[in-house]
Amino acid sequence: MALPQRRTDIGPPHYKDFLPPVIQKNYGDWKYHEILNPGVMVHVSNKGEKIWTVRVASPRLLSTDTIREHAALAEKYCGGYIRYTTRHNVEFLVSDEKNIEPLLKDLKDKKYMVGGIGPRISNIVHTQGWVHCHSAACDASGLVKALMDEFADYFTTKSLPNKVRLAVACCTNMCGAVHCSDIALVGIHRKIPIVETDKIKNMCEVPSTIAACPTGAISPDPANKAVKIKEEKCMYCGNCFSVCPALPIADPVNDGVAIVVGGKVGSLRSDPKFSKLAIPYVPNNPPRWPEVTSAVKTILEAYIAGARKHERVGEWVERIGWESFFKATKLPFTFQHIDDFTIARETYRNSAAFKW
Ligand code: SF4
Ligand code: SF4
Repeated sequence: MALPQRRTDIGPPHYKDFLPPVIQKNYGDWKYHEILNPGVMVHVSNKGEKIWTVRVASPRLLSTDTIREHAALAEKYCGGYIRYTTRHNVEFLVSDEKNIEPLLKDLKDKKYMVGGIGPRISNIVHTQGWVHCHSAACDASGLVKALMDEFADYFTTKSLPNKVRLAVACCTNMCGAVHCSDIALVGIHRKIPIVETDKIKNMCEVPSTIAACPTGAISPDPANKAVKIKEEKCMYCGNCFSVCPALPIADPVNDGVAIVVGGKVGSLRSDPKFSKLAIPYVPNNPPRWPEVTSAVKTILEAYIAGARKHERVGEWVERIGWESFFKATKLPFTFQHIDDFTIARETYRNSAAFKW
């Protein structure tokens, strides 16, 4: 005799339980979708049934009050159906066409930014930054706020050759989607951790600290009951600090941001791509990061000027060649680029000669 299915609290509930009824009824049976304006798209099924998506921006770190407001709007206009995308866009899933205009009006009155669908930027996926994480080399939320303020028009109205996915990770652990975004920022440390000799013996286990280093840069310092770090072997990853808080690596003067370009997840027209290094270091300059914002603008403007319709950033760069990318953006090609361009996964080149 089959046992009744047990309900447990292990694992998430099945996602299908949360789909709007229109999607449940037409699951896997969609005919087409159409972008009606920068913030609204419609999916049409083979049965002729429709569901509309209204997308708004979010700062990712949301207050309880804001989430309650989202939920109230979803209850009022969408039967309670709302979703948060992996890039922190908020999407209201509307099954009744007559609710779209009142929802848009309500969103406008509440000063939400509607847009992000189609050939434009969407919300910027990002990590914890100084708010929450111990290994951050730059802030995430502050940097994203500065970028979104600068590029808001590309979310709400202006068009690009294709969608441009932006990402920020505040250290090279890279909790964001930096490796597969069109233009992405990654926080970098540039100095080895400080060894706080007097604290290590009370705060850290020496063997696990040594084992945490991927390059074998850490060795025991028995005289001081501490560890030593070989500078030329350190790649400033911050891994040791995660297991030993007496090896702080954050440095307000030398930490900064690297910018990588050309990644994408989708396989439309061309294979998914990893991003490659465009700028090895831009200084941290909170609260508005003008140097970073200006560097991203330079790359975005070169893409707008040079790309064909539907080309993603990586596709544009590969068509013109990386040498032309550096010429078009006037970015210097430096020694830090060599690894990325000679041991790149798709080329497996291992010489310093650089020609595309
Ligand atoms: S990217 Fe690094 S600093 Fe940022 S949240 Fe992840 S681990 Fe922390
Ligand atoms: S920062 Fe990374 S490479 Fe440098 S010592 Fe620590 S774990 Fe090793």
